[in-house]
Amino acid sequence: MEAKQNRNILISGASVAGPALAWWLARHGFRPTVVERAPHLRGGGYAVDFRGPAHLSVLAQMGILDQISAHQTHLAATTYVDEDSRPVASMPAGIFAGDVEILRGDLGRILYEATRDRTEYLFGDSVTALREDDGGVHVTFARSAPRTFDLVIGADGLHSGIRQLAFAGQPDQVADLGLYVAIFGVPDRYGLDHEGLLYSVPGKTAAVFSAPGTGQAVAQFFFRAPGGRPVDFDYRDTAQQQKILASAFADVGWHVPDLLGQLPAADDFYFDSVSQVRLGRWSSGRVALAGDAGYAAGPGGNGTGTAVVAAYVLAGELAAAGGDYRTAYDRYERRLRPYVARGQKQARGGADFLAPDTARKIAQRNRFFRLLPYLPPARALVKHLSTRTATAINLPQYAP
Ligand SMILES: Cc1cc2nc3c(=O)[nH]c(=O)nc-3n(C[C@H](O)[C@H](O)[C@H](O)COP(=O)(O)OP(=O)(O)OC[C@H]3O[C@@H](n4cnc5c(N)ncnc54)[C@H](O)[C@@H]3O)c2cc1C
Repeated sequence: MEAKQNRNILISGASVAGPALAWWLARHGFRPTVVERAPHLRGGGYAVDFRGPAHLSVLAQMGILDQISAHQTHLAATTYVDEDSRPVASMPAGIFAGDVEILRGDLGRILYEATRDRTEYLFGDSVTALREDDGGVHVTFARSAPRTFDLVIGADGLHSGIRQLAFAGQPDQVADLGLYVAIFGVPDRYGLDHEGLLYSVPGKTAAVFSAPGTGQAVAQFFFRAPGGRPVDFDYRDTAQQQKILASAFADVGWHVPDLLGQLPAADDFYFDSVSQVRLGRWSSGRVALAGDAGYAAGPGGNGTGTAVVAAYVLAGELAAAGGDYRTAYDRYERRLRPYVARGQKQARGGADFLAPDTARKIAQRNRFFRLLPYLPPARALVKHLSTRTATAINLPQYAP
């Protein structure tokens, strides 16, 4: 259905939710503009995955499922090792990888290529002020000249600038789960072949994974808030974040000193808290949120799959309502909230799994993975539990 009103839509953020939303908006006759703070498409991060018919059908309808499948990571083994790199347990291949697992950077490129013809992209810029009246949302940018859009969607992640501008004053929007993550590319001098190695000490896990197709490996670190106190960091200050990471892992052996030694050369360093965004409402007037900006879940919460499903539903509801944003935002939220709540609930136990806080819990985790190959029902149960939240939505059909 051709959109009747409110066709000019600004989206902030060009990672997953933003470009996916642009794709669906353009498909329904809207005119999307995407503003991204980074000067160019951001690479970096490690793998994200899609699982179950809801995620896969949205990607198939976008015509990008085959490309995503062609870029799968195909990790064969993920092995927990001791300080001397001797295997102590192994995660069965694919058990947490969903139906397709892809490097986040590859996914970002595929989404950008699929949208660039019908979307205006503004890189290296961001929204600094929003003022709404009957004529639309008057947007001030850091660099571009001010413009007026009919609607504005914040798809700008955990630290969403749009959320801060349009939802200021709402308490407890971001719940820090007490875990921190850092990811960056490193030369592969660990002899990896479609595999990952993980080394844990209480409260900290360091890992290095193959990054197929890149000629590189990816270092990944998880650590708990030291002493349970949230780490104070500036999410734009990479040098400060690297210092925090180096200090958290200063006393850890295995490949850690070597991996940390490569920090100065890392041009794709990613650091963040593992946090959830919890809002009483996902829209305010003509402004709405999509993806992590509105409802980040954290690892294991299907954030990437949810972002593409959200893009499909939000654009579809805007089209179905002929551009009437009040009706569309209400329906979007009603359809998606239970789905998001399940993902957030599932992700809350992430810290116990990613960085167990005692030697005993590390040993229990390792024992669990040693036994899993011999317990087919338990294996099936783990697979089922890690898939059921992703599939827990019936997607409506929207006329194109
Ligand atoms: C560099 C990076 C690496 C990641 N690595 C992983 C990973 O390895 N595994 C994993 O599971 N998840 C990872 N994630 C998170 C994952 O992409 C999201 O959880 C999920 O895909 C939902 O995506 P999103 O588009 O809602 O948010 P995000 O992926 O967080 O994207 C938000 C986008 O908005 C941009 N942005 C932020 N603030 C502004 C602003 N003020 N104005 C304009 N643009 C802004 C950011 O640069 C980013 O491109 C990563 C995210 C990023 C940005």
